[in-house]
Amino acid sequence: VTLVEAALTDADRYTDETLGRRVTSAVEVRLARRSPCVPFDPFGSTPTAIAQSGSLCLNTDGPGWTDAREDPALAGSVIAHEHYHLLQAELGCLPGPDDHTHAWLVEGAATWVGWQTEVAAGHVAQDQVLATMRDWGGWDEGLPALSDLEEDIGGDAAYALAYRAVDRLVSSAGPRALVTFCESINTGDAWHAAFERAFGTTTDDFYAAFELTRPR
Ligand SMILES: [Zn+2]
Repeated sequence: VTLVEAALTDADRYTDETLGRRVTSAVEVRLARRSPCVPFDPFGSTPTAIAQSGSLCLNTDGPGWTDAREDPALAGSVIAHEHYHLLQAELGCLPGPDDHTHAWLVEGAATWVGWQTEVAAGHVAQDQVLATMRDWGGWDEGLPALSDLEEDIGGDAAYALAYRAVDRLVSSAGPRALVTFCESINTGDAWHAAFERAFGTTTDDFYAAFELTRPR
């Protein structure tokens, strides 16, 4: 519990200072042991953590959390990742569980904010984060094109690829463009239009430029 509280405090500070936004609504935080976060999920398919508007749940009995507990920066990044999904929900850009839209950007932004929270808190160096993204498989040649991850995304390798994509977006448009994107969606823009408004490039142009940086 202490670890989770500290990680949430880091996450709140990071979004406040870097993105200029923080989660303001009440959030129920649950550490699931005997009852999983998602009831009736088939055993073994339960994610390590899940966040929806107003709730954040960690499967502390799952294999993912067992790994994370031995690595404080990884554990912190998982919690900051979920915390950012809560902010996405508040800002209006978190798709519902059945809405298959801008999936790589939802998860890439959460993964990026999750790790950058840990860098800012001094728990991990930036080059170690990149090494971890490489370990996860973010540079694997077998990964699909980023444009094929709009509807669904899953697995560490795809998340690492999405981290790389968001890192590229943020390095040119700045981290607050992530907030601009969410607010644009919230006012009713389609996501491709919101993307262009926030990041100053069309998705097609971005995909083309990004794929050029990937080994094939
Ligand atoms: Zn996520």
